[in-house]
Amino acid sequence: MVTQVERDDTTWHTCEACGLMFDNETEAKEHEERCESDEPNYIQ
Ligand SMILES: [Zn+2]
Repeated sequence: MVTQVERDDTTWHTCEACGLMFDNETEAKEHEERCESDEPNYIQ
């Protein structure tokens, strides 16, 4: 999923699967749909 983080007065949208950060929510969601990170981060 995409999480929002505020930093330097900018809201960043982070892909939790791979950690990529976007300053554009639409780009983040488009990335998430295509993100093929197959490293499940719930196994830690
Ligand atoms: Zn990703």
